[in-house]
Amino acid sequence: MKLATALCAATSAFAVFLARAQSPPAVSTAGGSEAAKTEHLILTGWGGGKAEDIVPKAAEIGFSELVVHHEDAANFAKYIEIGKAYGIDIYAWLFLGDIPAWKKAFPDADPPLQVMSPAEDQALKEIQADKTFGKSHYQSGGEPVNDIEVLTTPLLCFHDPRVLEAFRKQIDEMLSVPGVKGVAFDYIGYRNYSCCHCHTSQIQLAAYRKQHPELSPERALNRFSLDSLVDFNNRLSAYVRTVKPDARVITHVYPVYLPEPLYGNRLDLDVCAQTAAWFFEPFWSTNKITTYSRIIAEEANRYYPRPHGAALVGYFNRPDQWPVKSRERLTGEIQAILEGGCSRIHVCSLNNVLDTPEAAEVFRSFFHRSEPVHIEMDKGTVTQRPTR
Ligand SMILES: [Zn+2]
Repeated sequence: MKLATALCAATSAFAVFLARAQSPPAVSTAGGSEAAKTEHLILTGWGGGKAEDIVPKAAEIGFSELVVHHEDAANFAKYIEIGKAYGIDIYAWLFLGDIPAWKKAFPDADPPLQVMSPAEDQALKEIQADKTFGKSHYQSGGEPVNDIEVLTTPLLCFHDPRVLEAFRKQIDEMLSVPGVKGVAFDYIGYRNYSCCHCHTSQIQLAAYRKQHPELSPERALNRFSLDSLVDFNNRLSAYVRTVKPDARVITHVYPVYLPEPLYGNRLDLDVCAQTAAWFFEPFWSTNKITTYSRIIAEEANRYYPRPHGAALVGYFNRPDQWPVKSRERLTGEIQAILEGGCSRIHVCSLNNVLDTPEAAEVFRSFFHRSEPVHIEMDKGTVTQRPTR
């Protein structure tokens, strides 16, 4: 099964953290409402909606950062304005499936979409046709449990240099908004979780294989696919800093990259959120959540001094389509993440958390802040500064 393969790929990283398992966790694992515990924690929400409705509700729960679409300029400006009053930083959402962003940059050219194998295209058709409750455990971009899973969302192929150019233009636009904290990357990955079969990608892969005759064809494919994926992220991240040196770059590593699921520490950006507790059944075991969280926290600076690790917890409340996580399940997942040492937690969907009193209460119990303050954590040192 692919899950087993994925876990094997992470074995070396596991060995590293297991050797360090005796060191105390970075944060208290007890959870609850005491301010002393919560001031170390940073909660980031991915979602959208009307700024006037969303920001005050998010503040009440204890969110420090929100990732939202910048497309509606007036609403985005409102997010920043209201966010400032509540001590919430606002990031603009950059999404690799953003065909309108491509059209804006290259109105006369067809978008260069990623291409999959015939078997993967067939799997896509079956996934799309599946209207059953729980969609036969399709994981929608998370670690697959079925033999072949692919992402149903079309994605641009970042091997085409014009895609980098299109997103650079979008970043210019995002960072021109006064008060924006930075850019949040999303969906930067492969639709089939491993590589792209388009013509451009195949030409570049052939050149890579020529340069690396010592590698087996499969190893060369994996190395090329991972190197180019990391490189695209790092180029975009570096570009953000050239446009606005104090802008921050955060990301959620998604869809999963199967040959190395926890590759996020290879990304030279400010905060890298990696999945620690996925959305769908089979829900991840507490052991797995803690194990992943520990790697995310402890291995964050293996390659670069800049990044902070963050753990993503998935939460959907669409009971007509999927089983919904109970209060106990959600509480246990957050506790397991904290036990692993991650003090930054990202949650998607922000809106589902805000609209579900039970879920809102769980997050509030861990993250609620009595005063609107801006909290920055720098390598374990906590500093607080009032926003006004
Ligand atoms: Zn391609």
